[in-house]
Amino acid sequence: MTYELIVIGAGSAGLMAAAAAGEAGARVLLLEKGDKLGRKLGISGGGRCNVTNAKELDELIRHIPGNGRFLHSALANFSNKDIAAFFEQLGIRLKEEDHGRMFPITDKAKSVVDALVRKVRSVGVDIRTNCPVAEVLYTEGAVSGVRLRNGEKIRCEKVIVAVGGKSVPHTGSEGDGYAWAEQAGHTITELYPTEVPLVSNEPVIQSKELQGLSLREVSLTVWSAKNKRIVTHEGDMIFTHFGLSGPAALRCSQFVVKELKKNGGGNVLLTIDLLPQLREQEIYDESYALAAQDAKKAIKNVLKGYVPEKLVPILLEQSGLSGDITYAHIPKQQWMELAKCIKAIPVRISGTRSIKEAFVTGGGVYLKEIDPRSMESKLMSGLYFCGEILDIHGYTGGYNITAAFTTGHNAGTHAASTLKGRG
Ligand SMILES: Cc1cc2nc3c(=O)[nH]c(=O)nc-3n(C[C@H](O)[C@H](O)[C@H](O)COP(=O)(O)OP(=O)(O)OC[C@H]3O[C@@H](n4cnc5c(N)ncnc54)[C@H](O)[C@@H]3O)c2cc1C
Repeated sequence: MTYELIVIGAGSAGLMAAAAAGEAGARVLLLEKGDKLGRKLGISGGGRCNVTNAKELDELIRHIPGNGRFLHSALANFSNKDIAAFFEQLGIRLKEEDHGRMFPITDKAKSVVDALVRKVRSVGVDIRTNCPVAEVLYTEGAVSGVRLRNGEKIRCEKVIVAVGGKSVPHTGSEGDGYAWAEQAGHTITELYPTEVPLVSNEPVIQSKELQGLSLREVSLTVWSAKNKRIVTHEGDMIFTHFGLSGPAALRCSQFVVKELKKNGGGNVLLTIDLLPQLREQEIYDESYALAAQDAKKAIKNVLKGYVPEKLVPILLEQSGLSGDITYAHIPKQQWMELAKCIKAIPVRISGTRSIKEAFVTGGGVYLKEIDPRSMESKLMSGLYFCGEILDIHGYTGGYNITAAFTTGHNAGTHAASTLKGRG
């Protein structure tokens, strides 16, 4: 059997690329390093597969802070709505949850992966698992095939590289594709972890006294060394044995990484606003009124009903209050200080977990060298890139998977429709 097109990597992007190329009539071979197809897709969204996000396109792109604007053309051709329709057609009914996140009604990622793999097979794509590619072969400025790790060479006219980034390498994405891109003359922008838990050396973190405490709908702000607000994200977060995690912390992480780099590895200040809906004065008034209602109660006990109990001693210490005093003895200035602390608990961040533990890899194949409509390399004829290997990264919430699906679909469609002898 000879193939016109080889897709390397059977993740979100590669499966979608193979489905699109097969549908368009190309003779396609899909090569996967591991023994399973769609492994990372299968663990995404907490094992339920956050297939896409229902937000309007402009809003969707805003949630892809790593070069989301590059996706305008791709999404114009295959949008989040098209992704949803694609899966519905495969019999996967979807539901929308908070923040526009779309999941299969089964709540099982496996149903999504299985449907996608069935589609890939149904359009005639041959799939080989346990088949790691060692290199992409180039001849006179054009793709000529691939060489497998076992030495076998397979010739083809076009290659779509969909091998992912460097995050969570046990899923198969170990960064193999960057060298192939460089061999074709591409630039790889600096790789860094994004959507990654934050590490802090603060005594309160190191003592693990807050470990396991989760905070709902708080807001986190990352500050520059010059005390300028860099970004604020609202959402849930959790204290871990090493620092902070949870959606709001993950969203802040890429800004922390960049700031750490800027300030040469010093700490980055992050503040937690426990009550983002209220202003300081409102917090002062509300909590003061609570203390008045229970005038005989020690304020440390009053505050337990107002903020998470584990944080009370920290807040009292920061605002210089003794927890044993009662309403009649509250110093008003310190009470205002307390309100300020509730709006901005400082946590100095010293780093992040590694790229291997990140949900997403930042950086990748430099986008100026890629055609945004087709995902074809501008430097090497017949070479395409899609998915996380590209210098695109979004927040978790279906944005990365959407980026992988749309770039995969566009690459597959374009590669198939421009094969020699076709219109
Ligand atoms: C735990 C977790 C949860 C996530 N949750 C979300 C979420 O809720 N929302 C969201 O938007 N994103 C989420 N993501 C990110 C998202 O899953 C990825 O960005 C996306 O799946 C990347 O798709 P991809 O096809 O580019 O790469 P991958 O899915 O990593 O696929 C790459 C494939 O290429 C194969 N491969 C690698 N090298 C070779 C080689 N040499 N030869 C052959 N095959 C090779 C790999 O084995 C793998 O199967 C999550 C990620 C993780 C780890």
